[in-house]
Amino acid sequence: MGSKVKRELLKTPRGTRDLLESELSVVRKIQKTAQEFSSYYGFQEIQTPHFEHAELFGASLGESTDVVEKQTYTFRTRGGDALVLRPEGTVPAVRAYFEHGLGSWPQPVMLYYSGSFFRHESPQKGRFREFNQFGLEILGEELAVAEATIIRVCSLIFKELGIETSLELNTLGDKECRPTWKKELVAFYRKHFEKLCKDCKRRFKENPLRLLDCKEPSCQEFKAKAPQMLEYVCEECKAHFKEVLEFMDSLELPYRLNPQLVRGFDYYTRTVFEFVTTGKTEAEGETGGPASPSASQGGKRVELGGGGRYDYLAQVLAGKDLAAAGAALGIDRIAELVSSRPEEKDRAQLLKTERPQVFLIQLGMAAKRKILSLMEDFRKARIPLAQSLSKDSLRGQLRLASKLGVEFSLIMGQKEALEGTIIIRNMDSGMQETLPVAKALERLKLKFK
Ligand code: AMP
Repeated sequence: MGSKVKRELLKTPRGTRDLLESELSVVRKIQKTAQEFSSYYGFQEIQTPHFEHAELFGASLGESTDVVEKQTYTFRTRGGDALVLRPEGTVPAVRAYFEHGLGSWPQPVMLYYSGSFFRHESPQKGRFREFNQFGLEILGEELAVAEATIIRVCSLIFKELGIETSLELNTLGDKECRPTWKKELVAFYRKHFEKLCKDCKRRFKENPLRLLDCKEPSCQEFKAKAPQMLEYVCEECKAHFKEVLEFMDSLELPYRLNPQLVRGFDYYTRTVFEFVTTGKTEAEGETGGPASPSASQGGKRVELGGGGRYDYLAQVLAGKDLAAAGAALGIDRIAELVSSRPEEKDRAQLLKTERPQVFLIQLGMAAKRKILSLMEDFRKARIPLAQSLSKDSLRGQLRLASKLGVEFSLIMGQKEALEGTIIIRNMDSGMQETLPVAKALERLKLKFK
């Protein structure tokens, strides 16, 4: 063996790296934080294989997306099976939902996962060929509370890690309204076809929505002037998006509408979102291109995570209807920001996941919104809690509460939401008492000390 070849063998393959203890401890800390928040908010862990059948991702991510076209690692086994290293975690989660009949569980099913994913990309800072993601999925929920819960949990994770992010939101409509927008987009870009970059010429033919993904400086002026989905969105999608935004307002989560946000996969419908930062460490998300307005403070726009609603994915995959939403956080990029913070070691104030002692019941939209922010007070008070954000009937939720064997249920209806009160119900005796929320919290805190 020549010495040059030998030297190559002593290096990891391009786009991969070893993580030593100092880096691993940061990664573990991020994963632990994410896990603890997710399980507190009702998500259960799922692990899926690192490889899947080669055909699984093609139609579901979109044949003409970058990932499917040029970034998957596909291979044949010695037995002749065509397999692929998983490039993302949503499709496997949906596959698992059907494989294990999770449709028979109480809906929605809330899952989280953590692990390595593989894409044959051009390696650069913050972009690897094997990278780590933490993902959240809510399967079987058509209401905006799904996106809101996922966004809420992600932003709490960022906050706990001390990372400042801005949240960008957009809607891509559904199969009713998106085609009109697409038609307008194509008509607009046709007029400028000759001036588009090479990739955009290809995108124009294969997948016009991706035109809005282009990072080439010369294409930016077209992106800025292109027709926006928000102008074409149908009444149902508009109402849904409005609900998402109302959740953001009631959670006091600032956001920016980004009409150019389309994300990399075809499976998204309606809401899409991204958490971006302009951190000085520049775990760079994308090459070149002018900074987006949210990055106007000077740094480059770096994507730390993103997701959205994907109501049609299950149709493509299993021929079944399943409304769902999810997100994935880029652990490698987050780790670069966390490790660059000197006071990092002092922040690990986490909570144990314990058996829930209290079940939080909501009745109606106003209560649902309040409860998403209330849960954070309970988490801080270290009260193990369970809830079902999607169930609307008192009966159904009480049944779930007794099944879990909790000692107390907290009930918030329209009236309580408006008055800032909540009903405490002793599940054994059935006795109920209405208290101001803060008092109820104090009482339970003492109880579970
Ligand atoms: P995506 O699955 O493409 O929606 O990506 C979700 C998040 O994962 C992004 O916002 C990035 O933070 C991270 N990510 C995606 N691709 C890579 C990669 N090749 N290397 C490192 N992080 C990545």
